[in-house]
Amino acid sequence: KNGASPYPAELEKRYRISKNVLGVGSFAIVKECMDKETGESYALKIISKKVIKSMTQGKEDMLTTELDILKKIQHENLVKLRDLYETKDGVYIVTDLARGGELFNQLLLKGSYTEKDAASLVQQMLKGVEYLHEHGIVHRDLKPENLLFKDKLEDSILMITDFGLSKILTKNDDILMTACGTPGYVAPEVLLQKGYNKPVDLWSVGVITYTMLCGYPPFYGENQSMLLQSIMAGKYDYEEEDWCDISNDAKDLIDKLLCYDPLKRITAKDALQHNWFISAADVNLLDN
Ligand code: ADP
Ligand code: MG
Repeated sequence: KNGASPYPAELEKRYRISKNVLGVGSFAIVKECMDKETGESYALKIISKKVIKSMTQGKEDMLTTELDILKKIQHENLVKLRDLYETKDGVYIVTDLARGGELFNQLLLKGSYTEKDAASLVQQMLKGVEYLHEHGIVHRDLKPENLLFKDKLEDSILMITDFGLSKILTKNDDILMTACGTPGYVAPEVLLQKGYNKPVDLWSVGVITYTMLCGYPPFYGENQSMLLQSIMAGKYDYEEEDWCDISNDAKDLIDKLLCYDPLKRITAKDALQHNWFISAADVNLLDN
C-alpha cells in the first residue's frame, strides 16, 4: 500500500515525474516531468476529479471541455497538449513546459513595463486570443497568472494557459451565462449577468494592458464588492502622474479594449491592426 504510485502506469512508463511543483492553480497542481526516451521536459497538470466535483457542483462537463479544447489547439502563443491519461481519481495532462514562469510574477518584479515590451506581450496575447476566437473558443479567465513565458530569455514567447473555464461555442452568437472568471479582469457584462461571449476576453486584455503600463489595475475597491461595483461602473482614468509619458496610441487601444458595450468593443483581429503595435515598436524614446 505504502509504495503504491499515485500515477497511472502508462504515464510512468513514458515519463519520469519530478517532485518539483511548477505551480498550483484553482483546480490543478502542475509538476515537471521528463520523457524517458527523448530526455525532453514537459509540464504535468494533475487534476483531481474530487476537487472538480466539489467546485463545480456536479457540472462535470468542465473537465471534458478543457480536454477537448487542449486537444484542438496548436498555436505558438497557446500551451500545447502532448498526452493525456485518466484514472478514476484524476486526469493527468502532459503539456509543453513554460520555463519562464507567470507574467504575474514578472509584473510584480518589474512594477511596470516599457511600452515597447508591453506592446510585444499584448500582441502575443492577442494572437493567442484571435486563434481561440477563430476556433469558437472563449477563454473567459485571462489574467497574468494564466500567461506563461516559454523560457527565461529576455524576449521569451508568451503563452496562454488554463483553459479550465473556457468553453467551445457551437454558434457564434451563443450566450454563456455561467458565473466564472476572476474578479478584477472580468468584464462588466459578466457581472451584470447579461451573458457573455468573445468580447469578455478583450476586456481582460484591456485590464492586463493597463496594469502592465502603470503597475496597478484600472478598477479597484477596498473589498470584493467595491471592486465589482467599480468594474460595473466601467469608469477608469489615466492618472496624470503615471500616464503622462505614455503614448496616446496605448491609451486609444486600452479605451477600445475597455469599451463598456461588448458589441462595440474591439475584436482581437482588429486590435492586432492597431497603430500602437507599430508606434511602440519603433519609438525607443518611450523606453526608460
Ligand atoms: P488551474 O486550472 O488549476 O488554475 P493552471 O493551468 O493555471 O491551473 O496551472 C496552475 C499554475 O501552474 C500556473 O499558474 C503556472 O504557474 C503553473 N503552470 C501551468 N502550466 C504550466 C506549464 N505548461 N509550464 C510551467 N508551469 C505551468
Ligand atoms: Mg490558473
